[in-house]
Amino acid sequence: MREEYLSGDADELSPSEKEFERALRPLNFGDFTGQQKVLDNISIFVQAAQKRGEPLDHVLLHGPPGLGKTTLSHIIANELQANIKVSSGPVLDKPSDLAGLLTNLEDHDVLFIDEIHRLNPVIEEYLYSAMEDFKIDIMLDSGPNARTVQITLSPFTLIGATTRAGLLTSPLRARFGINARLEYYDAALLTTIVKRSSRILDTPIEDPAALEIARRSRGTPRIANNLLRRTRDFAEIKGNGTINKAIADIALTALDVDQNGLDEMDNRILNTIIGKFKGGPVGLSTIATACGEEAETIEEVYEPFLIQEGYIKRTSRGREATELAYKHLKIVPPGKTGDLF
Ligand code: ADP
Repeated sequence: MREEYLSGDADELSPSEKEFERALRPLNFGDFTGQQKVLDNISIFVQAAQKRGEPLDHVLLHGPPGLGKTTLSHIIANELQANIKVSSGPVLDKPSDLAGLLTNLEDHDVLFIDEIHRLNPVIEEYLYSAMEDFKIDIMLDSGPNARTVQITLSPFTLIGATTRAGLLTSPLRARFGINARLEYYDAALLTTIVKRSSRILDTPIEDPAALEIARRSRGTPRIANNLLRRTRDFAEIKGNGTINKAIADIALTALDVDQNGLDEMDNRILNTIIGKFKGGPVGLSTIATACGEEAETIEEVYEPFLIQEGYIKRTSRGREATELAYKHLKIVPPGKTGDLF
């Protein structure tokens, strides 16, 4: 599989983080832990497409950041024995950027577009005919000499990834034959991922420590791997290089990851809703301003996990803290007595 990154990378990882992620990225279906149903289905579709000698249908992968959308896209390309070209919504600015990408694809190649909900509408229009008929109309010249020529593309598979499936326009969404949602991972699956990563990093880890990191990783492999990396530093400096439960505890506490796996921003959000807005309901943008964070980031990154774990509720009037959130912060909810805890 040839892998090519075009037009830069729009995500916010540092080069060392990117390198680290690449080293730990599973390369085939067998290496990918969890998301069993999604994996089973996609592997059938991949095999069927190969058997028919056709490109795989376009795939939309959605779910919170760090759950494996990019990883899975590379695995699909690998299993298809196809090349993958990688770009992202905000980076594809001009129709010529997209045309350049599309016309360079070979038969059955994969084009991966991250953050596809952030595509410019003009580019999105171009994608429609590319996805549907493997054709694009390119405008040559401008003004009175303007004319369009139609270019036939090699049949390809578009894999779009998004943290916000709700923001996709319906015509775009309708053009994906395969639509899969990635879910948060439970502690057992994340333990398997942490152990695999520590094997690759050649860092010994004891089982209770792997479970502790897994349990406190917000259900997210990217976070589990990052915490493992930082814990390894603590093990090397404060211990003998082996990650045990005591070292994991010291590292996670130093990194502001609490006993329930909530990080500093999660706790800031809960403290804001409860401390400043009497538990809510309070609007997202008000929370964002009070926490000094972008509303979009709170909605995409923090809130889905806090909702899933039952710390906050989304109501028509805004976000509300649940009893669990009060309990977590050791604050007595209004109208309750202190002996609740
Ligand atoms: P996304 O594209 O959804 O933001 P990525 O695919 O970039 O997430 O995954 C982030 C990191 O987490 C990758 O480096 C990868 O190693 C790891 N990862 C994600 N999903 C899995 C998985 N199911 N098994 C093992 N590692 C995973």
